[in-house]
Amino acid sequence: MPQRPQTTANHANQLYGPQPDVARAAGYPDAPPRVGFFTDTSVCIGCKACEVACKEWNSVPEDGLELTGMSYDNTRGLGADTWRHVAFIEQQRPAGHGAGGQGGGHGGFDAFEAARALDDPARSPAAPPAPEGRTELRWLMSSDVCKHCTHAACLDVCPTGALFRTEFGTVVVQQDVCNGCGYCVPACPYGVIDQRKEDGRVWKCTLCYDRLGAGMEPACAKACPTDSIQFGPLDELRERAAARVARLHTAGVTEARLYGEDPEDGVGGDGAFFLLLDEPEVYGLPPDPVVTTRDLAAMWRHAATAAASLALLGAAAFARRPR
Ligand code: SF4
Ligand code: SF4
Repeated sequence: MPQRPQTTANHANQLYGPQPDVARAAGYPDAPPRVGFFTDTSVCIGCKACEVACKEWNSVPEDGLELTGMSYDNTRGLGADTWRHVAFIEQQRPAGHGAGGQGGGHGGFDAFEAARALDDPARSPAAPPAPEGRTELRWLMSSDVCKHCTHAACLDVCPTGALFRTEFGTVVVQQDVCNGCGYCVPACPYGVIDQRKEDGRVWKCTLCYDRLGAGMEPACAKACPTDSIQFGPLDELRERAAARVARLHTAGVTEARLYGEDPEDGVGGDGAFFLLLDEPEVYGLPPDPVVTTRDLAAMWRHAATAAASLALLGAAAFARRPR
C-alpha cells in the first residue's frame, strides 16, 4: 500500500467543517472524484451476501456463527472481524402504519388477516376487520460499514501514520505500520474501528482499496442482489439518494430519511451514507456524530495559555522574592 502523502498547507490543520475536496486536501494533486457508498436500507432483504463477500475478498476471519437470540443477527455489530454488519431490527407497530414500501404496513394491507378471512365465511375480504388494537411486525434491515468520514478522527490521532487517506477519499489502515496502540478506537464517533485480540492491531473496512485501484467496485456492493449497497462518485450518490427519498415520500413512506450525507454535519459528511426508515438510534447509529478531534486545536491553545500564565506567575513570584 502507498504511504500517506504530505498534506498541503491549505488544509493541513482543518479538523472539522465542510471539506469539498478531501483527497486534494490530503495531498493528492491529481485525485479522481471521491467515491463512497449509498446504502438504501429500504430495499435490503437481509441476505448477508455483503457480509460474506467482504469476508471472502478480504480474508476476514470467522467471528462466531451463533445467533444473538434476539434476531437473525449473528455478528452483533461492526468489529475487527466484521467489516460489514447486517442489522435485523424487529419492530412491533400498529397495523396499517405507513403507506407502502418495506415495513410501511404494505399500504395498509394485512396479508395474514386476509389469509385468515379466506377460511372464515363470516369475515369477507370485502369487509375487513377494523385494525384498532392490532399490531404487526416489521423488520428493518441495514448493512452497516465504516463511514470513511470527511474528518476522520481515527486518522487524526494515529501516531504512526498507519491510517491514511487514499486518493479516492477513503480511509485505510496499513497493517504493517499499525503498532496496536489503539488510540484510534475511542476516537471513532461511530465505534467502527476495532483491535483484533490475537495481535492488537486495528482492522476495518478499506472500501476495498485494492479493488478500487484495479478499477473494480467493492466486493460487498458487487454481491448485493438488490442494489441496497450502491457504490460510485459521492456527488452522484447524493443526487441519487435525494431522488430516492423524494420518490418514497411521494409514495407515502414519509419516515424515509438520509443519514450521513450532509457535508455540514459533525464529521463533514460520510463517505458511506444511508437511507433509513426510522431514527438512527433504532439502527444503533449515533444521531448527531461529531469528529472527536474537533476541539483539539482549541484545547492546545487553552493548555498553552495556561502554561504561559503559570510561567509568568512563577517569574513574578521569583522577581518579588526578598533578597
Ligand atoms: S468495501 Fe470491501 S472491505 Fe469494505 S465492507 Fe465492502 S467488501 Fe468489506
Ligand atoms: S445490503 Fe444487499 S447483500 Fe447485504 S443483506 Fe442487504 S440485500 Fe443482502
